[in-house]
Amino acid sequence: MSYPDTLLFIDGQWQAASDGRTLDVLNPATAQVIGTVAHAGQPELAQALAAARRGFAVWSATPAFQRYQIMRRAAVLLRERAEEAATCMSLEQGKPVAEAHAEMAAAADIIDWMAEEGRRAYGRLVPARLMGVTQSVIRTPVGPVAAFCPWNFPVNQVVRKVSAALATGCSIIVKAPEETPASPAMLIRAFADAGVPPGVIGLVYGTPAEISETLIADDIIRKVTFTGSTAVGKILASLAGTHMKRVTMELGGHGPVIITADADITRAVSLLAAAKIRNAGQVCVSPTRFLIEKGVFEAFRSAYVARMQALVVGNGQRSGTQMGPVVSQRRLEAIEALVNEARDSGAKVETGGTRLAGPGYFYAPTVLTGLTADMRIMNEEPFGPISLLCPFDTLEDAIAEANRLPYGLAAYAFTGSGAVAARLRDTVRTGMLTINHIGLSLPEIPFGGIGDSGYGSEGGSEALDAYLDTRLVTSMDY
Ligand code: NAD
Repeated sequence: MSYPDTLLFIDGQWQAASDGRTLDVLNPATAQVIGTVAHAGQPELAQALAAARRGFAVWSATPAFQRYQIMRRAAVLLRERAEEAATCMSLEQGKPVAEAHAEMAAAADIIDWMAEEGRRAYGRLVPARLMGVTQSVIRTPVGPVAAFCPWNFPVNQVVRKVSAALATGCSIIVKAPEETPASPAMLIRAFADAGVPPGVIGLVYGTPAEISETLIADDIIRKVTFTGSTAVGKILASLAGTHMKRVTMELGGHGPVIITADADITRAVSLLAAAKIRNAGQVCVSPTRFLIEKGVFEAFRSAYVARMQALVVGNGQRSGTQMGPVVSQRRLEAIEALVNEARDSGAKVETGGTRLAGPGYFYAPTVLTGLTADMRIMNEEPFGPISLLCPFDTLEDAIAEANRLPYGLAAYAFTGSGAVAARLRDTVRTGMLTINHIGLSLPEIPFGGIGDSGYGSEGGSEALDAYLDTRLVTSMDY
């Protein structure tokens, strides 16, 4: 299969930029250019905004049941096209094809669930204090949305935002990732082919700061949703604040994992190693700081290191590959700098700690011990296949370390004790806590962080709340 060039999608039309500008797309497994993506400028952004205004008028007036039918059709089309989209995603992002397949399947599930939930975006009647008064709480779509999506899950990050917007009657302009443009374009094509009217979804690529500054400042946009780094999230949240726009922020994390001595260590090693290497560690909910009770530290360390050493790392297109490259030279350098700095400050490299040979952006699965809290890698999200193993004496020490950072996205625990599980539930400051299994990211459960990891949710019924205004109408019968 050849990799396609990607166009903008504005007002129901696939189009190039008016000045013909494009960006190159690289395959991170080979560092070769495999295609191009159109780069939107001001004329295209103005067109997309005007189309989103018209699209909102049409879609918000479309009955919820009809929106549901169109969305369900999009999910069917996406499943039919999953093979092609997964291959593209693996080529542009680097992840193994099997992971890309799983992402496509999850995307179709998300569309189905959000479509269903859109039919249940109920209002309510509040009992009144006076006879003859009716107090209605109604929920209406917030308006056209600007969505900014990163490259780590090229389809999943887009589908969560588009499905929630569409289910509630909003139009949406998506700035999809320039690094990985083709697979999100295939997602948008499925919606368009399913019958979503022109203007309801816009798809643009370009210079991220130019697009966000233009869209967020424009009166047409009523809501901003962003997934990416905390640093960029803070910039976009302040811009949104200046212009009084509703905001959802899905930002970085530094996932703590608490493993107590009575945990099933074999099971913990197996589940955590799989979670760590997924998408080469470029996952906001990736387990990162492994806090292990002293008595089982050695048992966990040796089994986990052996697991990392046995991994098949290579081109995601090759069958049998368990971990692909990281997405770009920039990411490779950022990971390398963090690990080298830690090593220079006294951390021990148990395995990995180097780039891998080859033209692509490969970094070895890496396990570090001998870490201290002042090291940069213990404070900044590595966003790569890096595991930081730290022993702890008491549960209180582990909880204090888990809560030390301003992030609060995903946390993990493996324990044989119900009392410990309950204590962690009450004390670990995190948006999501998963105990004795890896249970995040399903469409029907909330997905989001607290603190510097952002606010708002991209799963569960809460995902739709973010796209709805709550309004009151109170009336008295004469
Ligand atoms: P980055 O901070 O440069 O960019 C992160 C994302 O924000 C990218 O998708 C980028 O296109 C976008 N972006 C950057 N500036 C923007 C702007 N002014 N307006 C709108 N969008 C903008 O980092 P990166 O090297 O691409 O990614 C690495 C870091 O990003 C990671 O360390 C991680 O913290 C974070 N990240 C998080 C997620 C997530 O799922 N939460 C996904 C990807 C990246």
